[in-house]
Amino acid sequence: MRIKMQEGQSLSKKTITILVPCYNEQESLPLLFDRMDSLVSSSKDFDYSLLFVDDGSKDRTRELIRQYSRTRAYVEYIFLSRNFGKEKAMYAGIKNVNTDGLVIIDADLQDPPELIPEMAKLWKQGYDDVYARRRTREGETWLKKTTSRWYYDILQKISGVEIQKDTGDFRLLDRKCINALKMLDESERNSKALFSWIGFKKIEFMYDRDKRVAGKTKWNYFKLFHLAMDGITSFTTAPLKIATWLGGIVSCSAVIYAIFIFIRTLMHGVDVPGYASTMIVLLFLGGVQLLSLGIIGEYLGRVFMQTKERPNYLIEEERLKSNNE
Ligand code: UDP
Ligand code: MG
Repeated sequence: MRIKMQEGQSLSKKTITILVPCYNEQESLPLLFDRMDSLVSSSKDFDYSLLFVDDGSKDRTRELIRQYSRTRAYVEYIFLSRNFGKEKAMYAGIKNVNTDGLVIIDADLQDPPELIPEMAKLWKQGYDDVYARRRTREGETWLKKTTSRWYYDILQKISGVEIQKDTGDFRLLDRKCINALKMLDESERNSKALFSWIGFKKIEFMYDRDKRVAGKTKWNYFKLFHLAMDGITSFTTAPLKIATWLGGIVSCSAVIYAIFIFIRTLMHGVDVPGYASTMIVLLFLGGVQLLSLGIIGEYLGRVFMQTKERPNYLIEEERLKSNNE
């Protein structure tokens, strides 16, 4: 179903799409709708559209979005054919944005929509990517905070790419960035890496991230681990080089140790005890080999997925204002 954009609507005011990826968000959505309504109705400077991307929810999320859109011309939606993950849900949204600006926001109200007008002020000053940086990370465990800090420190060091710390996907992007992101259709997506990669004029915007209003986070440590791996592989191939270096260092040490043993045997004869050192070397080498194979496997798996060239997502139902038709 496609609705024609009203003529003259975007002549003077800048248009902004607010993209909301949703997965099983039936508890948060009614609250989000209320806050979005007040944002849209109170705005004088911008024309807002809301674009919901349902990522294969199994609860009443779709029904709620459909119902909400019925009485509001500024609401658009895309329903994906199954759960593809937040990264692909966002991509599905970005591909269908034709406004001057784009805001990506979570459905659980952890990112307050009321901040959007303030972010838009910075955008008007000429910045292309106004990203929100968390001042505090309330409701997150000490373990999650520390591991995430270490992870980004290491990633920053080995990749050499500027990484925005304590930043999620909550940001306002200019049309330039939207067009750039539309071109990046890789299957192994990591939005953090993509936002960094595109460049453009970035500015941070400090905010306090709230707790989820309702429902549960979809993340667990298993998923986070995968996200971390995706982050590393999409930022850098440094781990492959590290594996090479490690292999080189171990081989050199092995040669030196072999010479040492050879000379010692010549001088002192055959030395039978040596079980401990043999085991240590054996286990260490085995470990290094498996680790290196694993690293190669991580990259190879992603190459394999990419070579299939499958579409990133499939749409089951949509309601979009089409400005380009
Ligand atoms: N989400 C999604 N697909 C998924 C998982 C999550 O679209 O497979 C959406 C979810 O509905 C929410 C946002 O991504 O709007 C962030 O998810 P969540 O709150 O679970 O993550 P957290 O805030 O804990 O990082
Ligand atoms: Mg959340």
